Amino acid sequence: MISCAIVGATGLVGSTFLKILEEKHLNIDKYVLFASKNSKGKVIKFMGEDYIVEELTEDSFDNNRFNYALFSAGADTSKKFSPIAIKNGCVVIDNSSAFRMQDDVPLVVPEVNIQKAFENNGIIANPNCSTIQAVVVLNALKEYGIKRIIYNTYQAVSGAGYKGLIDLEENTSKKFPYKIVDNCLPHIDVFLENGYTKEEVKMIEETKKILDNQDLKITATCVRVPVKNSHSESINIEFEKEFDILDVRQKLNLSDGIVVLDEISRNIYPINTFSNGKDDVFVGRIRRDFSVKNGLNLWCVADNIRKGAASNAVQILEKLLERNA
Ligand code: NAP
Repeated sequence: MISCAIVGATGLVGSTFLKILEEKHLNIDKYVLFASKNSKGKVIKFMGEDYIVEELTEDSFDNNRFNYALFSAGADTSKKFSPIAIKNGCVVIDNSSAFRMQDDVPLVVPEVNIQKAFENNGIIANPNCSTIQAVVVLNALKEYGIKRIIYNTYQAVSGAGYKGLIDLEENTSKKFPYKIVDNCLPHIDVFLENGYTKEEVKMIEETKKILDNQDLKITATCVRVPVKNSHSESINIEFEKEFDILDVRQKLNLSDGIVVLDEISRNIYPINTFSNGKDDVFVGRIRRDFSVKNGLNLWCVADNIRKGAASNAVQILEKLLERNA
């Protein structure tokens, strides 16, 4: 009997876990839904049945209750409860930033490095939402030898959880430092001493770890925009080797998890409302950067709650189940 805990089941990412698990019908016999004490007793419809949300406590994982746990309840909750889960024989797939940069924790995007997930020590980290969609694209082009990357992101308010959505819908500034309505805020997560935001540093460091190349030169500017869902990114890449633009398109077209939408004569390029609810990374505006040798510009859009969080984690779980079957 295989059992799985869903931690943070009432949140934006957690409720999307449930939706994706309903779509995928994984080989799991039992699920238990957890959230904070505020949600204890709440009833959630899942797989056609009423599930009662349990409060996550230090006893929740007792007696090797679970084989797997999907965590999406913030870094503090992950730091406190993942070690308890692991001690009780559970493999944790964690959506928070708590363990991503730890050397002994694999940081996994299935299209790029699923093998690392099989070498876990109890925790597998899901990367940051904006990193996931970027590395799916970069991995498809790695044969050209990536030298330098410039990220500019346009990130949806859903990336900040339910509170971010409320700020957009009710024209408030409870989650963000200013009203997000009518504004683009070049500020995601906290500012660091070096002038970057933590989100920007996450993108830089996580990309190096996932692509397994600490020599990569990367810079990033991350911006919150008044868009409900799906993150957009302008990615500028400088390659070591020369490339043919048709070959670039073909590599992207043939890669798992990527859909090329790039017909400018018909105004076809990736947009948020098209990407919402889907698991692919959509790529367009593929064009040479004429200002440097071997430079490329492209635009990519993905659903930050699905591929940027929940689907990526469920894909990892699916691969672990397949391997252990
Ligand atoms: P959210 O909508 O605010 O939901 C947070 C969830 O965590 C709720 O289910 C909440 O339960 C639960 N929670 C909070 N404190 C808890 C505690 N002490 N014990 C148990 N559960 C607790 O946030 P979200 O957007 O789903 O994000 C959740 C996590 O995923 C965060 O770590 C975030 O960084 C990460 N993530 C989010 C995105 C995104 O695009 N949104 C992408 C990648 C990763 P209650 O309802 O009971 O408060």
